[in-house]
Amino acid sequence: MDCIFCGIVAGEIPSDKVYEDESILAFRDLEPQAPEHVLVIPKKHIPSLDEMSAGDGELVGHLVSKVRDIAAQLGLGGGYRLVANNGKDGQQTVQHLHFHLLGGRQMTWPPG
Ligand code: 5GP
Ligand code: ZN
Repeated sequence: MDCIFCGIVAGEIPSDKVYEDESILAFRDLEPQAPEHVLVIPKKHIPSLDEMSAGDGELVGHLVSKVRDIAAQLGLGGGYRLVANNGKDGQQTVQHLHFHLLGGRQMTWPPG
């Protein structure tokens, strides 16, 4: 399988890791869109939110529940944004489920 994020999980592609446990990994985005821009991913290859299996709910719930700890570790006490781009119209470019954790500046809305 040719997946960049699976390559990062396997350690074949270097990344700037900020958090890791047995089932998830968080690492800095190559092209940061905010002072802090981290991607939080399940180690398991799930292509997108649309392709989650019934049993993946616990894993993704674990991931989301860790976001506040990762944000705190990054010093984002003022708040942050969590984004999951999904599918073509959502402008998802890497087909391995990931959540963008963005912070360190005032966000704006709508996101565009
Ligand atoms: P998407 O566009 O799918 O929502 O987000 C994919 C993100 O992955 C983009 O923000 C892009 O900058 C980031 N990205 C793509 N390739 C790599 C890589 O090899 N390493 C890291 N750290 N980030 C990557
Ligand atoms: Zn993958």
